[in-house]
Amino acid sequence: MLFFRYTFSDTMIARQQFKVVMSKHFSKHEFTCPCCGRYIVSNHLMAVLELIRAEFMRPVHINSGYRCKKNNEKVGGSKDSKHLLGIAADCHIQGVTPDDIFDFMNMTFPRCYGVGLYNSWVHIDVRPERARWRDIDDKK
Ligand SMILES: [Zn+2]
Ligand SMILES: [Zn+2]
Repeated sequence: MLFFRYTFSDTMIARQQFKVVMSKHFSKHEFTCPCCGRYIVSNHLMAVLELIRAEFMRPVHINSGYRCKKNNEKVGGSKDSKHLLGIAADCHIQGVTPDDIFDFMNMTFPRCYGVGLYNSWVHIDVRPERARWRDIDDKK
């Protein structure tokens, strides 16, 4: 097991320290901000991603994990995006529809977390309260 300790100073949670236990199924670079190479990911989020992996018995691919403020602005993330805190991941699973992941999250965690459904991925964050949204093109 690898232990990483990361302090980051350019956000509203400056000086807060995180101890990160990377799981064997996910790698550091998947959660790394592509513009600056910083990364941060909560153990809580990792545990949820592991659970999704176990449920679907397939690797979970991370499109976007931690984002620094600059990169979050660049990709059009909201100002209070949970990606800024290292508690969010946009993910997809080959051969599994985002709908199925979305439904699994709703059934398993009906009262908490942020889950957003998109055309080709699902946003998952481990905020304590419940938030759900859909941002898909309904082609009917
Ligand atoms: Zn960055
Ligand atoms: Zn997201």
